[in-house]
Amino acid sequence: MKMEDKSKIANEEERSLNFIEQIVEEDIENKKNEAKIHTRFPPEPNGYLHIGHAKSIVLNFGIAQKYGGITNLRFDDTNPVTEDTEYVQSIQNDIKWLGYEWEGEALYTSDYFDKLYEWAEKLINTGKAYVDDQSAEEIAKQKGTPTKPGVESPFRNRTIEENLDLFRRMKAGEFKNGEKVLRAKIDMSSPNMHLRDPFLYRILHAKHHRTGDKWCIYPMYDFAHGQSDYIEGITHSLCTLEFEVHRPLYDWILDGLYTENTVRPRQIEFARLNLSYTVMSKRKLLELVKNNYVTGWDDPRMPTISGLRRRGYTAESVRNFAEKVGIAKRNNVIDVGLLEFRVREDLNKKAQRMMAVLNPLKVIIDNYPEGKEEWLETDNNPEDENAGKRKIPFSRELYIEQADFMENPPRKFFRLGIGREVRLKSAYIIKCESVEKSADGEITVLHCTYDVDSRSGSGTEASKRKVKATLHWVSAAHAINAEVRLYDRLFSDEDPDGHKDKNFKEFLNSESLSVLKDCKLEPNLASAKVGEQFQFQRLGYFCVDKDSQENALVINKTVGLRDNWAKAQRKK
Ligand code: ATP
Ligand code: MG
Repeated sequence: MKMEDKSKIANEEERSLNFIEQIVEEDIENKKNEAKIHTRFPPEPNGYLHIGHAKSIVLNFGIAQKYGGITNLRFDDTNPVTEDTEYVQSIQNDIKWLGYEWEGEALYTSDYFDKLYEWAEKLINTGKAYVDDQSAEEIAKQKGTPTKPGVESPFRNRTIEENLDLFRRMKAGEFKNGEKVLRAKIDMSSPNMHLRDPFLYRILHAKHHRTGDKWCIYPMYDFAHGQSDYIEGITHSLCTLEFEVHRPLYDWILDGLYTENTVRPRQIEFARLNLSYTVMSKRKLLELVKNNYVTGWDDPRMPTISGLRRRGYTAESVRNFAEKVGIAKRNNVIDVGLLEFRVREDLNKKAQRMMAVLNPLKVIIDNYPEGKEEWLETDNNPEDENAGKRKIPFSRELYIEQADFMENPPRKFFRLGIGREVRLKSAYIIKCESVEKSADGEITVLHCTYDVDSRSGSGTEASKRKVKATLHWVSAAHAINAEVRLYDRLFSDEDPDGHKDKNFKEFLNSESLSVLKDCKLEPNLASAKVGEQFQFQRLGYFCVDKDSQENALVINKTVGLRDNWAKAQRKK
């Protein structure tokens, strides 16, 4: 292929737009809304953000960045019962951590409560809304089915005056929760169930985290979202597919408000992100937190942004993941291995290499002088030419991994066995001569000899000698102790949410956490800070957990080195 053709293809790939970008580009071309782009991210502050939200964040902020627009952060705080300022804080932290800045101050739907109330009265005044005295259950019974029309409420034809009076008394607190609702008067036989006189306002005597006791009626999502978009001048209101059926209502409400020369928001739906082996609803994640199945919202096994961060995921890897899974119009499930692939890919470039032994086995090099120590040079990161080198101590007593030795190794085991040689990374070739065992037969010490001339990088013939395996190791006298937490998937089922007869909690993996208390790290890790990320050689990527104390490091395993996902892709 000619060079020009190659670059043409590369250009075309870059140009391949997702369907939302196509809409946005068309709107810009047609000078719709004076070619301005204004998106919003509208979380309900009823839990911590999860990886699904990351997709929505990357989409909303990404579109605005790409087309010179802006993005609002709006807390969709219409339900006082489940919302909390702790969530408001964590959501802001997570968005900033992901690398995005919203326009101006964070906004709140609750700031629009007066306006929304005014618009509700306006609907009543134009005969488009009424107060229903029936209970939610009674109303549900009248809803009909998609193929069977609903039944009109006996209160549907109240006069405007009566409706206004009742609605004002709802606001004034004269009625108990559930005693009355305000409903839109649309069409009880509409094929779209959301147009069968949907609820607009309900009575809820509850303290709101921002408005306190001012209100005892609260707007429903459908009677808040579109208007909030309209108030803020949002041009493209991007939401997940389940809201597609709400769009006619979104538009019905805007039809009643829109005046010329204002921005009329357009709702566009995309497929939500689903991940295998993961539950993603905040309600379910809250259940795990409340019942102590995990240690908190930021438990490193959680699919929350704060959990991923604590686990050692980088913001860049989360953004890359969200971007590269793409924007679809149909729901699908993404292999969680792809998320792991993205963090591995990023940390491979960035993470400093370190030596650590998780399941230590003592090695004594009998021909190495007692009391001697050498500081040997090793690469910080072979993937990064600017990463430089550091020194690690070598001495007569070391630790290697238990799994790197076998007393009776099968033919294909190339690591250490009696009479066999291996290289210690950046150090010497050693040979195992004998083992010591405890009373119950467990191997406690390997006695080895070393080839004095074989030091890596010394330039000797022996230093270039090939042996079948290179092991990581830590000098016993210099090692620092650490607790290392290893994680497996939180659920043992690919689709924990997808079983009709079983609760998702039945699929919790009882072995999702294992704690190793006696790990040995090279001494350079003594100054590691909470959140710092490393590659422990031959083991995977790790980071320092916030539970660490002075002289008592706690380390999380982020992800292993092996790339099962990429391998599986190649096979396909
Ligand atoms: P959950 O079901 O987890 O509680 P939600 O949709 O109720 O999520 P919100 O706080 O209302 O959560 O969502 C904020 C924004 O994030 C919305 O625009 C929503 O569509 C989007 N979002 C939520 N979950 C996902 C997901 N899995 N994939 C993509 N976008 C999502
Ligand atoms: Mg929600």
